[in-house]
Order: sequence, then C-alpha cells, then structure tokens
Amino acid sequence: MLTKCEGIVLRTNDYGETNKIVTLLTREHGKIGVMARGARKSASRLSAVSQPFLYGSFLMQRTSGLGTLQQGEMILSMRTIREDLFLTAYAAFIAELTDKGTEEKKPNPYLFELILESFKRLNEGTDPDVITFIVQMKMLGVMGLYPELNHCVHCKSRDGTFHFSIRDNGFICHRCFEKDPYKVPISPQTARLLRLFYYFDIGRLGSVSLKHETKNEIKRVIDLYYEEYSGLYLKSKRFLDQMESMKNLLDENKS
Ligand SMILES: [Zn+2]
Repeated sequence: MLTKCEGIVLRTNDYGETNKIVTLLTREHGKIGVMARGARKSASRLSAVSQPFLYGSFLMQRTSGLGTLQQGEMILSMRTIREDLFLTAYAAFIAELTDKGTEEKKPNPYLFELILESFKRLNEGTDPDVITFIVQMKMLGVMGLYPELNHCVHCKSRDGTFHFSIRDNGFICHRCFEKDPYKVPISPQTARLLRLFYYFDIGRLGSVSLKHETKNEIKRVIDLYYEEYSGLYLKSKRFLDQMESMKNLLDENKS
C-alpha cells in the first residue's frame, strides 16, 4: 500500500553500504521507520530528504514492519540548524527525546505540531534554551507524567511562595515546606515560567528573554524531574550539557 504523509526526520541510521533507515515523526501515523534505499549515495534522490530535522512530504510503501521510502519532497530544510553546531545539539536532543518518549505508529497531531514548531523556531533563531524547556515540559504529558503546577501538592493552596517537590510531584507552598526536605528552591519567576511552558501554545510564543539564573533554576527542576520519573537516558542530553558548559567557559573568557 502506498501512503503519502507529512513528516519530520528525527534520526537517520546507515544501513549497509548504500541505504539509510530514516525515523520519521509523521502527522498521520505517528513515529515510523522507513528504509531509504540508496540514500547514502549523494546522487540519490532520497539523500536530500534523508537529512536530520528536515520537514517534508513523503511517499512510502507501508508494510507491517519497516516501510520503504519511495519519494520525498522537502517542505522546510531546517538547514540553519544543521549548519550550526550548537543548534544541532539542541535539535538532536529534542529529536531523541521525541523518539525515545513516544511509541511507534501512534498518531499524535499535537506532538507533531509541537516538534515542527520547535524546529522552525530553532531554525529562525529563537532562544534554543526556551524552545527546549517548552518541549521538555510538554513531553511530560505525552509520556504520562503530570506534575501539579496549579496549587500546592499538599494543602492545595494557590497562593504563597512555591518551591518544587520532585518527590511529591509538583509545587509545594511555604506552609508545607517542611514536608519535603529535598524540595528544590525556585523563584516566583521560575514557578510562573514552568507553568507557562507546560500549558502555553508554542505557536503563540513571542520573544522571551530569560536571565541566566532563571534558566539555571528551570533547567535544574526539569533535569531532576526527568531523572526521577522519565526512565530515559539520552546521549544527546549529555552532549548538550557538555556543549553548554563549554559555551559558558568561552563566554566567561570573553568578558
Ligand atoms: Zn501547601
């Protein structure tokens, strides 16, 4: 059966001398793997569309197992991402998180839009940290994780000073602080942003500029939360963290 679908290339793996296996996140069928025969040869018509992060329209032969890519047409190449080492590291992390955090052949148009929009934004120069935070917060629901960000996990109070309790799965208010000695201290700004990134539609994101300390706080909460609950170990995340510390070092030397 021949099917046409729209997809984003999450990953490509060499297969044999000339082929690639391409993992696509498609709007219609969710995540699927397809064999792109000859795609390792630069002259192949499939090589141009088998590039990481590319958004295109694909025609494939679907089978119960791995389908075969017949044709592809690029819609957005996302080339700016691939030409920048830092942006590539961010996009590779988003792609791996999407890949590892989803099941095959389970359509999720909402997730498709999220990933497409995040790559578009990276490609256009929006702060990659903000994009990554939004994707990480929104992927929680996709993986069946629901932190409580509307009120205190203990007393349900909506006002006060909030910190984040990894153990108790959400915000904890100052009245209940003693219930979790390991709570992560956060500023009101960080609490507001965590909630915003979790609920907000990325398509409506304007320009956001975050202080370095705020980013560090958000990152700390998200990283600890993923460590505790996601069960994922992502190589791209380690690489991204190394890149970031390298970048910080360079920035320090500049000033
Ligand atoms: Zn409370």
